[in-house]
Amino acid sequence: MMWNETVETMNREDMRKLQSYRLKRVVEHAYHNSTFYRRKMQEMDVTPNDIQTIDDIVKLPFTVKQDLRDNYPFGLMAAPMSEIVRLHASSGTTGKPIVVGSTRKDLSIWAEAVARCLYAYGATKNDIAQVSYGYGLFTGGLGAHAGVETIGGTVIPMSSGNTEKQIQLMHDFGANILCCTPSYALFLAETIHASNIPLKEFKLRIGAFGAEPWTDNMRKELEEKLNIKAYDIYGLTEICGPGVGGECECQNGTHLWEDHFFPEIVDPVTLQPVAPGEQGELVFTTLTKEGMPMLRYRTRDLTSLNYDKCPCGRTAVRMNRILGRSDDMLIIRGVNVFPSQVESVILELPEFEPHYFIIVDRVNNTDTFQVQVELRPEYYSDEMNKVLALKKKIATRMQSVIGIQPEIRIVEPRSIERSMGKAKHVQDNRKLY
Ligand code: ADP
Ligand code: ZN
Repeated sequence: MMWNETVETMNREDMRKLQSYRLKRVVEHAYHNSTFYRRKMQEMDVTPNDIQTIDDIVKLPFTVKQDLRDNYPFGLMAAPMSEIVRLHASSGTTGKPIVVGSTRKDLSIWAEAVARCLYAYGATKNDIAQVSYGYGLFTGGLGAHAGVETIGGTVIPMSSGNTEKQIQLMHDFGANILCCTPSYALFLAETIHASNIPLKEFKLRIGAFGAEPWTDNMRKELEEKLNIKAYDIYGLTEICGPGVGGECECQNGTHLWEDHFFPEIVDPVTLQPVAPGEQGELVFTTLTKEGMPMLRYRTRDLTSLNYDKCPCGRTAVRMNRILGRSDDMLIIRGVNVFPSQVESVILELPEFEPHYFIIVDRVNNTDTFQVQVELRPEYYSDEMNKVLALKKKIATRMQSVIGIQPEIRIVEPRSIERSMGKAKHVQDNRKLY
């Protein structure tokens, strides 16, 4: 079932017409209502008249996170505050938070975007969804919440934390859908298995997981541990929040709702569009946003797009799994390493728990790269040789996937911190110098 079949299956030509029409309108709106965008366009000698079709998008300036910081808090708003009904903020990792304002219409488009995702997962009004993304300034909780209400499902607005109670209510209320980060889902799964309630007493069938990168191996782990189908949901505060795109039953790419959020992939260095299907930085233009339109916003997320028609019938472009953000990429002894690559190796090996922590440092001018892992109880051994063999196995596998061999440290069971929101997988001590 599709929430908005007309749009989700629209042929490419009609979609481009719709995108062209909407791009013209949003550019005019931004130009006339935001001094920030007007100034940026004037600097590039572009006026709204230069934008006639969606292909003209390349004439527009890019917008970056620093622009939001520099114009903190409300400098990018393109609607009067009397029209703004909600503020959200993302803390990011450094510096000032970024603030995003939405009009009533912006919120209803966002809710529809999440509703499309939920329908694509096979959710209906008969489902009960436990929303365990954090509520508050973070967009996860309220975003998922609005989507569930839009399709007429029942929301359990749990927010994150209080893990024992989450399990209890999930069980007692018979939640069918779990919305949270994949790392929190893993923590919840572990807690269920450690509790005395058998898994078969839970009614979960769908996971809507996102807000952080995760791998197909993590999907398998979560599907087995929770006896569900696990689907991706993608989004970012600057564009709206979760629901910019979601996976369908094919589980082969995240459909982006490109009638509202137009995606491009550019080379992060030259900023030129890459060849179709190639990997690069994902850039979004909001085609319908009133409160705070984003023109060519650089997400820093690295991925690629697939325009092939999906067997589910949707024509909406599919985004491949996000490798990571360009600012999460570690350069260790000259090799580019993404935490998602480490995750993928660890989850491939049955001997290890699906948790890891990376510590990077510099000793005598050489980078050190340590990966902490936990052994599954059934693989514990007093024999030194067996443990060494396991360490070697994982280190060799990492060498072949990542191109560099980490030092593997096996740590005490459950000593790697479990996350209730976005997991922190890396400590880079080199930045302290
Ligand atoms: P912050 O920038 O503080 O983390 P956001 O909640 O806006 O705040 O984070 C959005 C970012 O989270 C995205 O740009 C992306 O890097 C990551 N993200 C969100 N959903 C997914 C997903 N499904 N897969 C991979 N990464 C995701
Ligand atoms: Zn599909």
